Amino acid sequence: MSTLRWKQPGQPDVVCPGKPLGGKKLGMGHWRFRWTGLLVLLICGSAQAQPRLEIAAQSTQESLGPHTAYFHDTDGSADLTAALAHLSEQRFKPLPNGDASFGFQTGAFWFHATLLNRNPAEQRWLLVQDYALSDEIDVYARYPDGRLVHYTGGDSHPFEQRSIRYRHPNFWLNLPVDTPVQLFVRVESQSSMQVPLSLYTPTAFTELARNSELGIGIYYGILLALFFYNLVLWLALRDASYFWYLFHISAFGLVLFTLNGLGFEYFWSHSAWLADKSVPLSICLAQIGMQQFARKFLDLRQRWPRGDRVSLGLIAFFVLLGVASTQLPYHIATPVASAAVLLSIAWIAAITIAVMHTGYRPAKVFLLAWAMFLLGTAVFVALAFGLLPKTFITEYGVQIGSALEMLLLSVALGYRYAALRNENERIVGNAKIQLEQEVQLRTAELRSALDQLEEAHLRLREFSRHDGLTDLYNRTHFREAFEQLLSQARNTRQPISLLMIDLDHFKRINDTYGHLVGDDCLRWTSNTLAEALEPYNALLARFGGEEFIAALPNLGPVQARAVAEELRQRLRQRPCHSGEFDISISASIGVHSVDVEAKNSIDSALQVADQALYAAKAEGRDCVRTL
Ligand code: GH3
Ligand code: MG
Ligand code: MG
Repeated sequence: MSTLRWKQPGQPDVVCPGKPLGGKKLGMGHWRFRWTGLLVLLICGSAQAQPRLEIAAQSTQESLGPHTAYFHDTDGSADLTAALAHLSEQRFKPLPNGDASFGFQTGAFWFHATLLNRNPAEQRWLLVQDYALSDEIDVYARYPDGRLVHYTGGDSHPFEQRSIRYRHPNFWLNLPVDTPVQLFVRVESQSSMQVPLSLYTPTAFTELARNSELGIGIYYGILLALFFYNLVLWLALRDASYFWYLFHISAFGLVLFTLNGLGFEYFWSHSAWLADKSVPLSICLAQIGMQQFARKFLDLRQRWPRGDRVSLGLIAFFVLLGVASTQLPYHIATPVASAAVLLSIAWIAAITIAVMHTGYRPAKVFLLAWAMFLLGTAVFVALAFGLLPKTFITEYGVQIGSALEMLLLSVALGYRYAALRNENERIVGNAKIQLEQEVQLRTAELRSALDQLEEAHLRLREFSRHDGLTDLYNRTHFREAFEQLLSQARNTRQPISLLMIDLDHFKRINDTYGHLVGDDCLRWTSNTLAEALEPYNALLARFGGEEFIAALPNLGPVQARAVAEELRQRLRQRPCHSGEFDISISASIGVHSVDVEAKNSIDSALQVADQALYAAKAEGRDCVRTL
């Protein structure tokens, strides 16, 4: 980023011999132009056996590197006069392999070349420094007639003052045909010392700019497409890893925007402060995004909690470094941030490999993406530290690596989504099977409980039909069962008879032997009656107290009376044993044979049987009467 400090727009400072510049301060490299300097320049300038660039007749662009000598002014104090003295003392050395990359340096660097234009068609050339971040650039062109032209530039000057609105510092040079021009370039910068200088004719520069802008356009086009594609996915899926991916590529895009000089051109062309701070700040932001994205993508907290804590530590470090870089000088903040980038991406590679070993397959694509970025960034950082020469691959290593990385990361996100979805489907499938098994188990349990309930219900029902003391049917059940028998009898026109049996003077037994003995007697009676009635398919029940009732299907009055007589006699035959007592039992029995033709009610049938019993009682007990 150069700024031409012109008296009038488009015009450089022009100093004529014998006319001192007069203590003019130029950016960070303060210097005074003195008579002595001019004298040395005049005496020594043309006598120097320094490398010379002869611009051929058809040439349209030239790289100055192979024809340039440099001098490192370590404390940055040398002015042009001093530089000329150093030149005359042969302290300027040719650039190693023509490459002007020196890494982070203190002081200032002086570059010198003699230019001889043999192209009669082109006298106006553009000197371009193909590196955007230098703070302070001074360009001196000295002509044989003693004229000295001075330009200033660098990103400590407003962008608008550039010769051409272009992201790299540039200066118009007038190179008359067949005239040797001495070119001195002084660069002082807290950023990496990279001074690749080139000369272009206006046409050649236009084409260069076109190509490089197209390249940059393609790069940011890819980034923008990836951004919006993943933005939509993030809005749809609400997966945090998509958010951090967006954060990462935005911050990373900003880093490159800054390094390319586009940040200065478009975002902070008036702010030398931001031009200075934007590099370490954007690097810190990008690292925060990168680490967060890696954590989320790899599910690090679940898969490797200890590694996750280290990642959080790194994030905290970059937050602090970002804050500190607003106060720290550039030449400290940026190298620290750049070196930390290497550590940070190496760490991401480490956690990715660790997570890959847990069997998490999306980590493979992630690692591949990271390898691309790692390679590109390593190449670029090596260039910044002067370890590698400036070539297309090294200069655009980060762009190429990162474009591939972000593309692959986007693929990795999709892959991760698919893997998570499959995992979810598997879990849901398993849960469904488990649920089905659970339901089957519960159904079986429920069925068994229902069976038990049914059984209990049956038992209860059975229990409710029986008399608790004698286990004979009770009166309620007798009514229901008798109703059915009566109905059958009516249908089949078969006779049916009722025997109403009441024990004689039972109260006395109770009174004499007690109720427990009385109970024994009731049980004994019921057993005796049941035994005796067995052959008759009779329905026997305890009617209440010491009273029993029996229905005899298919038996008419005569047979029924005979059965009643048999019962009476059976009771009389043997006494009832209860403890030490033998108790004689007798019963009176009323017999009623129901008229199946007459549609009388059960109650009336029972009533008649009861009347017969009453008659038996009335006639002395222990006898059978029929009605
Ligand atoms: P009768 O010959 O006129 O039938 O005289 P009874 O004493 O048998 O008749 P009553 O109706 O005066 O008395 C019936 C007695 O039966 C009264 C009651 O204490 C007794 N009794 C009724 N149910 C039970 C029972 O479940 N257990 C015992 N131990 N006694 C009962
Ligand atoms: Mg009685
Ligand atoms: Mg009675």
